[in-house]
Amino acid sequence: MIDFEETNGTLWRDVTAHGDIRYCFNCGTCIAGCPASNADPPLLIRNLVRMVLLGLEDDLLDEDTPWSCVTCSRCEEMCPMGVRPFEICLEIRKWQCKNDETRIPPATAEVFQRGYTQAVEKVQALRESVGLTETLPTISESPELLAKFQEMLMEIEVIQDVDYMFRS
Ligand code: SF4
Ligand code: SF4
Repeated sequence: MIDFEETNGTLWRDVTAHGDIRYCFNCGTCIAGCPASNADPPLLIRNLVRMVLLGLEDDLLDEDTPWSCVTCSRCEEMCPMGVRPFEICLEIRKWQCKNDETRIPPATAEVFQRGYTQAVEKVQALRESVGLTETLPTISESPELLAKFQEMLMEIEVIQDVDYMFRS
């Protein structure tokens, strides 16, 4: 049960894009073609839009899934209401960072460890079936480059402050 005394009824004004988020009728079309909806945990943009509309700012602040968006903008093309879900996703990221300056998205640690994020397990078989490698070739295949990349990341002050997140 949501206690609307505790929610922020104007949150949608702070997390808004060029479309009008209030037109969302929760159809889920944005999820249907979203590659990040197969991530773990899945990015369910419709649910994030609901959180914004319901003013659930504490829950929204805790959400890591907006950082799984791969910025393909498919959802923008598919949304029948012109809500611009992709832009909402980016706005949520900005809003989170504005409201928690110490926020380090977990994706940063993934990038640090292996040079990429977004291991989308469900597409591995599909990649192999069309003759591609099981996973994307990335910097992680070159230990020297990965070490250099990690060294560069560790020069960033905000990363140094939370270095425990980056230990294997
Ligand atoms: S832009 Fe982001 S939220 Fe939209 S379909 Fe692509 S990955 Fe999903
Ligand atoms: S496709 Fe558009 S209207 Fe449908 S749930 Fe997603 S944001 Fe809302």
